[in-house]
Amino acid sequence: MSPDHLDLGGAHLRRITDLDRFALPLSLLFPEARQQELEPFRADLAPWHYDFDAGAVLLGVHSLLLRLDGLTVLIDTCVGACKPRPARPEWHARKAQGYLAALAAAGLGPEDIDMVFCTHLHADHVGWNTRLQDGRWVPTFPRARYVMGRAEHDHWQKAEAQAPGQHNHGAYADSVLPVVVAGQADLVEDGADLHHGLSVLPLPGHSPGQTGLALDLQGRRVVFCGDAIHSPLQIFRPDWSSRFCHDPDQARRTRRALLEQAVAEDLALIPAHLRGALGLRVRGHGGGFRPAPLF
Ligand SMILES: [Zn+2]
Repeated sequence: MSPDHLDLGGAHLRRITDLDRFALPLSLLFPEARQQELEPFRADLAPWHYDFDAGAVLLGVHSLLLRLDGLTVLIDTCVGACKPRPARPEWHARKAQGYLAALAAAGLGPEDIDMVFCTHLHADHVGWNTRLQDGRWVPTFPRARYVMGRAEHDHWQKAEAQAPGQHNHGAYADSVLPVVVAGQADLVEDGADLHHGLSVLPLPGHSPGQTGLALDLQGRRVVFCGDAIHSPLQIFRPDWSSRFCHDPDQARRTRRALLEQAVAEDLALIPAHLRGALGLRVRGHGGGFRPAPLF
């Protein structure tokens, strides 16, 4: 089976890649990390998640396409094309034609997406929310409702009002506001029910109002957990929060609680930037945690 798609039994999941691989030096992403602490887990982390020669964490930037009894949902929309991101050269003014081609290869055009769910509004999660048309940013998915947490949206809206374009690579102005102006944004509360078995799960810390999606399927719970877990490294080292976390302590608490719940309830976790397999399970191990295959 291709690792890019997965039948969940009652739902189908496919990865739509925008940027892979995206490598960040360990100390840049996780300021408290030391590579020697990862050596015992080399067999789990190389080659997909960590490059031991380069000292780099390896991430994928992709959407997760979820098809669930007639509803087509795109979870997070990556970096996007043509976005001005001068502070991050890999994201800056990209051509990025492969993303919509990958969607087409799945048999879908932009008009086929019913819902875009933004776990949070960082620039690598909202890029394809919009595209450039005649010099203006317009919603890429013309029929979609764009669902985002109200607390998350309101935080970035306020930041934008205080310092226009001076935060989060300018992503609110070019990738969120045009969707709001078009009347396609739905701001939701934690716990909101979006569809049969699909609900909004609060995962604060990495960003102020980060939310995941919980999907209940015939006795199996799947959790799309955004950046609560950036990399399997954090399953071995759950106390490592990223440099980009809004509240690193809250991010740690959220991650630990999620990992404990994953063990207790045998959750299938789908982190936003996971490479290789689409998801993983978590087992308790020696007072900590270790990743296990999804199925
Ligand atoms: Zn991210």
